Amino acid sequence: MNFADLGLAEPILRAVREQGYETPTPIQQQAIPMVLSGGDLLAGAQTGTGKTAGFTLPMLHRLMAKAPASGAKRHVRALVMTPTRELAAQVEENVRAYGRHLPLTSTVMFGGVGMQPQINALRRGVDILVATPGRLLDIQQQGHLDLSKVEILVLDEADRMLDMGFIHDIKKVLALLPSSKQSLLFSATFSDDIKALADRLLKSPQLIEV
Ligand code: AMP
Repeated sequence: MNFADLGLAEPILRAVREQGYETPTPIQQQAIPMVLSGGDLLAGAQTGTGKTAGFTLPMLHRLMAKAPASGAKRHVRALVMTPTRELAAQVEENVRAYGRHLPLTSTVMFGGVGMQPQINALRRGVDILVATPGRLLDIQQQGHLDLSKVEILVLDEADRMLDMGFIHDIKKVLALLPSSKQSLLFSATFSDDIKALADRLLKSPQLIEV
């Protein structure tokens, strides 16, 4: 199995080649076709398995396949939530690397640093937003962020987000999203709280465990 067999568009395959990846990891082999098909996904995966590319590559493909007319105002079409600023920064770096040949923009937002540069980046127009829940909500509550046109939602390391006490923030963010969207939930463990969140969010999800 190689990346070209998974149904990804050529500009994405080119970026993958430039990363030096030769073979998709097991989670990528399973997740990429599932996400491309448009359904919801519940994935059990630890870090180090290649899960980031597992959701980022097909997410980019789907956004690219339905690119808005050029000149149209950009709005957030994909939202990735992560527990920590380090993970948010790392995921957004991946989005940039894999999307380098695509006309899509991304930015990252997390707490502990000034808000204004993050607000300015949003104003310039962002297709893909990677954020930690608290800062995301702060910026939304100040009126700088419209999440009503999100097409794809990813909760990355959902168990860690719950461990860190983000459940209320996550629920508030979910309430701001359109009900018609594709949702992907990644978690290393499956407590009752994660199962409840998955039940609430995901519609007939496909399951992956690696
Ligand atoms: P992740 O589990 O997403 O944090 O990825 C772990 C590491 O594996 C990252 O450094 C990726 O750049 C790398 N990686 C992801 N997919 C592949 C692949 N198919 N082949 C080789 N390395 C990969």
